[in-house]
Amino acid sequence: MGVTIIWDHQVPAGLRLPVGRRIETVLRLPVTLVDADVLINGFHPERNQYDAAAILDRVLFMKGRMGCRGPVLLVVTHDLYAGGCDFVFGLARPQTGCAVISIARLDNAFYRREDDFDDLADRAGKEGAHEIGHLLGLEHCTDPECVMFKPATLAELDRKKTMLCPSCRAALAAVFR
Ligand SMILES: [Zn+2]
Ligand SMILES: [Zn+2]
Repeated sequence: MGVTIIWDHQVPAGLRLPVGRRIETVLRLPVTLVDADVLINGFHPERNQYDAAAILDRVLFMKGRMGCRGPVLLVVTHDLYAGGCDFVFGLARPQTGCAVISIARLDNAFYRREDDFDDLADRAGKEGAHEIGHLLGLEHCTDPECVMFKPATLAELDRKKTMLCPSCRAALAAVFR
């Protein structure tokens, strides 16, 4: 089974291959990269953020239109919220095979730190692999270095490695057995 990653046109083009490769490395699955001019719904004017759940409805629509069977991840630049959270790095809806991540809070610029392309690519790769992991049936992991650990902060995201822990790796292998 392959994974499809849709890149909204606002995401810097240089990120696509490096992030796609990181996700392939973590999940050991082939990744197809698609560029799209995505209509992003769910803007909340008081929060100045986008409702990730509304965006997932759009992802499902695109998934159907493209005839994708496997998991689909959309990457956007829009700052996301979901449910009771102030923000989310991403959101997955396993029952539909759709997920979204935002690079808004993965970029050093958001924290007034010096730009670093590798930081951004590493974080987007980890978050993307995490959400696709949910689409493949993986749950959150208690190992703080595992991709499936749920980070509450950027520091916790940075502490994760670009890999699954042995137990999540085994759980993923079992999906394909
Ligand atoms: Zn998660
Ligand atoms: Zn794990």
